Amino acid sequence: MSEPTATHVDAESNSVQVLPASFYPSRLSHASHRRREDGIRALLPLESRPGLISLLVGKPNSETFPITSMQFNIRDTASPNGEATMQLTEEELNDGLQYTFTNGLPALREWLFGLQERLHGRRKGEGWTITIGAGSQDMIFKGVNALINPGDAVLIEAPVYAGTLTIFHTLDAEMIEVETDGHGVCSHSMREILENWPPSKPKPKLFYTVPYGSNPTGSTATLERRLEVLALSREHDFFILEDDPYYNLYFGPANRPPSYFELERDLPEVGRVLRFDSLSKIMSSGLRVGFASGPEAILRVMDLHSQAVNLQASSFSQMIALKVLSAWGYDGFTAHTARVAQFYREKRDVFEAAMQRHLAGLAEWTSPEAGMFFWFKLLGMEGDSEYIIRTTALERGVLALPGAAFYPNPRKTAYVRASFSLLPEDQVNEALRRLREVIVEVRKANKRG
Ligand code: PMP
Repeated sequence: MSEPTATHVDAESNSVQVLPASFYPSRLSHASHRRREDGIRALLPLESRPGLISLLVGKPNSETFPITSMQFNIRDTASPNGEATMQLTEEELNDGLQYTFTNGLPALREWLFGLQERLHGRRKGEGWTITIGAGSQDMIFKGVNALINPGDAVLIEAPVYAGTLTIFHTLDAEMIEVETDGHGVCSHSMREILENWPPSKPKPKLFYTVPYGSNPTGSTATLERRLEVLALSREHDFFILEDDPYYNLYFGPANRPPSYFELERDLPEVGRVLRFDSLSKIMSSGLRVGFASGPEAILRVMDLHSQAVNLQASSFSQMIALKVLSAWGYDGFTAHTARVAQFYREKRDVFEAAMQRHLAGLAEWTSPEAGMFFWFKLLGMEGDSEYIIRTTALERGVLALPGAAFYPNPRKTAYVRASFSLLPEDQVNEALRRLREVIVEVRKANKRG
């Protein structure tokens, strides 16, 4: 049987042209093909049949669990004391304390389907699905494992979130860096890489990107660049892994670009974007709740991976998240995330004012439009921030991250990442004052030497 071509489409529903299930098997990793369904979890969905008596799962009896009720408070701007009390019902508590489905608590998945429709215009039933994981990191790890074999080439924007580099390193992927600037990934460089690709070498299987408020650069990819990347993904047959934990922490100009997940809906061949969202930055990083949205064939393999390693993300965390999200509703969610974005915008402004005060002429930067990081270049350091940050600056009591940590392949860089999410203004000023002293000293010493 010949392999379905990239132009082959399965269904046309509401004008969305979805790639067929047969498109995916040849693009999945060898490990994905070896994954098997756990015999118990395969039958788990049948338990919800009305009237059925289930002898299936070895679920522990919740009567033996020590926790008998759960109440907590959330911030509530409408209430006089600024808080509202949430109380889990008996059923919610039971569900939260018990095993659930591998892809997540059904009610939370439903809520998230509604969210994705509102935020990205993608409707349930149009060839994609959602799986909830223990943070988006968990989902990214499983997503990459679903697609990559050792030695496969992957396109990675550079610099990039260091937490995913470990995944690609472990899988021995060949990381091809695509440069970025203040407008996100340089799609023209990606085109050049792909157009000059050696004919005998298999093309990259995926492109990994953090398109909003990139960690570490803080930049957001423009619409034009996103569209060019989407066009390239079709011309050169690769998946786009859209890691977007800062989507809701955007505080740049009002005409924000749509996500890749949204943009692909209007193209032929929907099903090349695997999107990752996280509740870490907008609700709690300790709850460990993130989710993937994308082609059913890929998410199915990710679920089988979960069945082998952790069965599911915590039901309890998912239940707490669900309780808060349901209390907010979608409008409340939007109001909350707008407040969070405004919070970080103010932090950004404080940090930038301190940068102007202490580092003008000593460093270069572009103001971030989302997220919680400043990415700046130390001037006069001979292209290397590693030594000064790890030794002199540390001795003077200021710690930032040398930029080299964010490049797929070893290199020297004059860039540094500083996080502005936590520090109050006086500490920001003190940290950057200390950094200034160190830079001035090292520059003098360099001149003398
Ligand atoms: N992707 C990016 C770009 C991140 O910055 C982070 C967290 N630092 C993650 C993924 C992982 O987030 P989570 O807490 O959802 O696992």
